[in-house]
Amino acid sequence: MRHAVIALLLLAAAQPARYDLVLRNGRIVDGTGSPWYRGDVAIADDTIAAIAPSIDASAARTIDVHGAVIAPGFIDIHTHARRGIFEVPTAPNYVGQGVTTVIEGPDGSSPLPLAPFLAKLNDLHKTPNIGLFVGQGSVREAVIGSVDRKATADELQKERDIVEQAMKDGAFGLSTGLFYVPGTFTPTEEVIELARVAGTYGGMHESHQRDEASKLIDSVKETIRIGEEGHLPTQISHAKAMGVASWGKSEEMLRLVDEARARGVDVTLDQYPYTASSTSVAAALMPAWLLEGGNEKTLARLKDPTTRAKAKLEVIDRIKNERGGGDPKNVQFASCAFDPSLNGRNLADATHRHDLTETVENAAETAMWIVEKGGCSGIFHAISEDDIVRILRHPATMIASDGEVPVFGRANPHPRSYGTFARVLGVYVREKRVITLEDAIRKMSSFPAARLRLTDRGVLRPGMKADIAVFDPATVRDTATYEKPHSYAEGFSVVIVNGQVAFENGQMTSARPGIVLRPAR
Ligand SMILES: [Zn+2]
Repeated sequence: MRHAVIALLLLAAAQPARYDLVLRNGRIVDGTGSPWYRGDVAIADDTIAAIAPSIDASAARTIDVHGAVIAPGFIDIHTHARRGIFEVPTAPNYVGQGVTTVIEGPDGSSPLPLAPFLAKLNDLHKTPNIGLFVGQGSVREAVIGSVDRKATADELQKERDIVEQAMKDGAFGLSTGLFYVPGTFTPTEEVIELARVAGTYGGMHESHQRDEASKLIDSVKETIRIGEEGHLPTQISHAKAMGVASWGKSEEMLRLVDEARARGVDVTLDQYPYTASSTSVAAALMPAWLLEGGNEKTLARLKDPTTRAKAKLEVIDRIKNERGGGDPKNVQFASCAFDPSLNGRNLADATHRHDLTETVENAAETAMWIVEKGGCSGIFHAISEDDIVRILRHPATMIASDGEVPVFGRANPHPRSYGTFARVLGVYVREKRVITLEDAIRKMSSFPAARLRLTDRGVLRPGMKADIAVFDPATVRDTATYEKPHSYAEGFSVVIVNGQVAFENGQMTSARPGIVLRPAR
């Protein structure tokens, strides 16, 4: 008898554990928007194997989460992660706030061709999963250059071919940056032609709109039209209304979205929860005609007094009414290669340092001088809280950071890279109660997954890939600010990517489980 027991025990010990990992005692928020429930989650290899009120089967490892939320890993549909991912392949700014997938190639800008870049990403030992859009601006740049004219029939065919190849290589769709040079030189009809190609392959369109300020509503109509006539899903990226004169326009934007959806156009939005945006000082404050044709031409134009005076008037207008937020103090520098001591300072400081009094006119002069010096990236404080709340509440809005992978401590980036997801959960769910916890998680997981046609991620369900974020809803918060952006989010205890624990106890682990994702076809 005794021998039999020992034999059984030995047999049990020799049996491999049924699961690799079990998370116990969670509040499961499954990503669909359904209310949370108590349960355990079992993982085998890279897959969720079981979810049940209590899982007692053997596991190689068990983690008691003590009532914390267990949610699907967050999918960030709009990032500039190629800025930094090769230097910091763990992307702790993202993973530490529950993001397990980052999507690149936004705003009309992507590497071309896609295949070698995807291969390079594939070879990188990285923590998050990553996928790509193909950028319309990059396509146009490759075929036509950065000039303000229509494409010839021949050029348009070349652009179509590049988009088609990118879709075959694994792009999730076509991104546009019609605000930027050279995207801004593209007629809507040309964008639609390329959107059709992406749509044929099951892709979507996402847009950094042509104008997020005075002509916002025209731009929303254009984004909807690209979806409607291009026959594919379309998305307003980082939805916002820039400049005091445009505050409140989110109401009409959302009405147009609702009307389009009612007639069958699949239009959605994404958003980051901050009252400032970020891009280059040149793109934000200089007119497109000044930037046409590249840097040398820009510098030559600025040397000509008449042209400079003409540009200055437009820069003044942009500071007063658009991205400048009405005051040079609202233009903050993120990274200035020519003078890093400007990082974190604002355009009023720079104007002062440039030996000028801090008027808007002198600030415009200083901004042009900065562009001549090689330029800076900036943070532009020009968005109203009311618009943020209104857009966030809309059911067709998902969360996306528009961020990058910062090198910790370097420059003064927008805090969104460190805090977007934690901020929504801390400020807009817990403190302001703008949306529920379950809806916030849906906007971070199943919604972007469905948008990208990632059929095996974004929901906690047996058979899905085990991308998981565990956090305490009572303490989750962002800590990155405009003054001190290099600061990690708090409240996350465990983050799992493809079944492997990538973040635990406030630290990245040695796991590098991230893979390159392609849409299901
Ligand atoms: Zn953008």
